[in-house]
Amino acid sequence: CGIVGYVGWRGAQEVLVNGLRRLEYRGYDSAGVAVVDGKGGLEVHRAAGPLDNLVAVLPEDGAVGSVSGSSAALRATTGMGHTRWATHGPPTDRNAHPHRDATGKVAVVHNGIIENFAALRAELEAEGVELASDTDTEVAAHLVARAFSADPDGGLTAAVRATVARLEGAFTLVFTHADRPDEIVAARRSSPLVVGVGQGEMFVASDVAAFIDHTRDAVELGQDQVVTLTADGAVVTDFHGETARTRPFHVDWDI
Ligand code: GLU
Repeated sequence: CGIVGYVGWRGAQEVLVNGLRRLEYRGYDSAGVAVVDGKGGLEVHRAAGPLDNLVAVLPEDGAVGSVSGSSAALRATTGMGHTRWATHGPPTDRNAHPHRDATGKVAVVHNGIIENFAALRAELEAEGVELASDTDTEVAAHLVARAFSADPDGGLTAAVRATVARLEGAFTLVFTHADRPDEIVAARRSSPLVVGVGQGEMFVASDVAAFIDHTRDAVELGQDQVVTLTADGAVVTDFHGETARTRPFHVDWDI
């Protein structure tokens, strides 16, 4: 029901949790975050119930000097967060987003419904992929991972374009790949997606409320667009890779 993504210089986990707090008013049944650290690690935490249930399972600051994976996660500056309003699969920990592919390298969060997920699931299962959740969303993680492996030179963006072109329904999707720690890629169809433009940091969200504490400069994406975010900027295309028109605006109201 709510999405926030971040690439920049701050600790991503804190930015994401604060962003999710700003989206709580929309209602949700579960929450989760994924962060990518510079060493190729992707760490995901999810919990059914209120945001505090997620916060309770997150690595905490205070482990200063520790070399554990969790401390690497705290230093990660790229990631995504999600609050879920279940449509496919009950509101459990395993159905909470982010979802991953089988290698654990790709993470995805999703708002909306992928109408043709059953056919895509069947196709993946026929190829030996084991699905780990009941959601319509998870297929997107597997499809992006496979497209990325097939065309690594195209990067995460080409893999996302190839995937969203196959999806039917309404979606805001955000992806990270452990091999691309400095970027996130998002796509939308019939579901909202705004980019927040900061100084050396970029945000993406379903609603400007998620990043309003950090920037009021925003760009609204149009129908069937893909955006690739790095700390320094955003590149927006359509699903075929053609440069797309976007609408920049300034948030001059209070939330
Ligand atoms: N259809 C997805 C699910 O049930 C996403 C729901 C949402 O928009 O939060 O997991």
